[in-house]
Amino acid sequence: MTAPDTVQQVVIIGSGPAGLTAAIYAARANLEPLVVEGVVEGGPTGGQLTLTTDVENYPGFAEGVMGPELILQMRMQAERFGTSFVTEDIVKTNLDQRPFTLETASGGTIATHALIVATGAKPRRLEIPGEEELWGAGVSACATCDGFFFRDKHVVVVGGGDSAMEEAIFLTKFASKVTVVHRRDELRASQILQDRAFANERIEFVWNAVPTEVNGTDGQVSSLTLKDTRTGEVQDLPADGLFLAIGHIPNTWLFDGSLETDDDGYLVVEEPTTRTNVAGVFACGDVMDHTYRQAVTAAATGCKAAIDAERWLAAGGAEG
Ligand code: NAP
Repeated sequence: MTAPDTVQQVVIIGSGPAGLTAAIYAARANLEPLVVEGVVEGGPTGGQLTLTTDVENYPGFAEGVMGPELILQMRMQAERFGTSFVTEDIVKTNLDQRPFTLETASGGTIATHALIVATGAKPRRLEIPGEEELWGAGVSACATCDGFFFRDKHVVVVGGGDSAMEEAIFLTKFASKVTVVHRRDELRASQILQDRAFANERIEFVWNAVPTEVNGTDGQVSSLTLKDTRTGEVQDLPADGLFLAIGHIPNTWLFDGSLETDDDGYLVVEEPTTRTNVAGVFACGDVMDHTYRQAVTAAATGCKAAIDAERWLAAGGAEG
C-alpha cells in the first residue's frame, strides 16, 4: 500500500446517478471531486442504469432516453466542471480517523476530508441449488445484457416488481415465450408496466410459486423446480433461461462496522440530510434508499450529499 500524495476535499464512491449528480454539484462548488468507479464487484461502472434500455420516467426526456446515454451525459457534465475519475475497486475503508483513507485493489491509498458513499445496490439472488453453478449458463440478472442469447427460447423471469415486468417485456423481443413466476397472486409492479405485461401475448404468469432448484442439462439451464407457496406442491417447468428480478441488496460491505445500517442493510442517514453516523461521511442513492429507488431520486439525494459535504467542509468540519 502506497501513501497518498494529496488529500482530496471530496471523494465520491460510485458513478450511478447519485454519485454523478453529487460530482456535478461538488465540482460546481469548486471542490474538485474525485469519483471512484468500479466499486461494485462484478457490477457495471455507471450503476444499474447502464443495464437498462429505455428510461421513460427521467424528467426532461419527453421521448425517453437510453440508460447508458443518460449516464454518459451525467458523466460528461461532471467532467466539464472539474470532476476527476479513477476506475478502481476500493477494498478497504478507514473512517476512524481523518482524513479518511480508502485502499484500492491495486495497492494505492486515497485520502479525503469528506466522503460521499453512492455505491448502489446489487441484484438479489434466490440462493437455491443450481443457481450459482448455472450462472452465465442460462441464469442471469440482466435481460439487457443476456436477452439476445435466448432467441426463440423459453425463459422464466422471477419476481413481481417493476424490474420483473420490464425484463419480461424486453425478453419478448427475443424469446418465443416468457413465463413470469411470482410468489404471490398479485404484482407489485406499477400499473402501466402490469398492463403492458398482461397485454403481451408472449408473456404467461405462474402465480404463487417460487423456484427451489435450477436444473441443467449439458451445463445449460433446462428446467426449474417450482414449489407452490400455498400447497407446497412441486412441479418441473422446462426452460432455457432464468432471469432474476427479485430486488436488490445495498452495497455496504466496504463499511461494515463503521457506518450504521438498518435491518435490511441500507445505510442510515440523519433525515432530511444525507449525513451518516460518521461526521464527514454522506450517503446517497440506492445504498441508503429502500423506498423510492428511482434514477431521479438517486440523483436528488446525490445533490443533497454534495451540498451537505460542501457545508460541512465550509463550517470547518474537517478540522473538527
Ligand atoms: P422490488 O420492487 O423490490 O420487487 C421485487 C419482487 O421480487 C417482488 O415482487 C417480490 O415479491 C419478489 N421477491 C423478492 N424476494 C424474492 C424471493 N426470495 N423469491 C421470490 N420472489 C421474491 O424490486 P424491483 O422490481 O427491482 O424494483 C426496485 C425499485 O426500482 C422499485 O422501487 C421500482 O419501482 C424501481 N424500478 C422502477 C422502474 C421503472 O419505473 N421503470 C423499473 C425498474 C425498477 P413480493 O411482491 O411478494 O414482495
